[in-house]
Amino acid sequence: MKINVDTHLCEVHGDCVVAAPDVFDIGEDDDVVQLLLADPGEEHRATVTQAARMCPVSAILIEG
Ligand code: SF4
Repeated sequence: MKINVDTHLCEVHGDCVVAAPDVFDIGEDDDVVQLLLADPGEEHRATVTQAARMCPVSAILIEG
């Protein structure tokens, strides 16, 4: 599955990091979320789906 984060929408709330810490990260100085895995395997689908649902600005798009 491919993940796209609309960095113009992202307000660095961090909900995605809480939901899927293996896939999303926010560094101390980051002003935008980082993708640790841009193409994570199926084993991450549940947490990534949860992250997309939790994002308050709907910035996370799952493709495939
Ligand atoms: S939950 Fe949404 S707004 Fe918050 S850091 Fe993740 S992508 Fe950005």
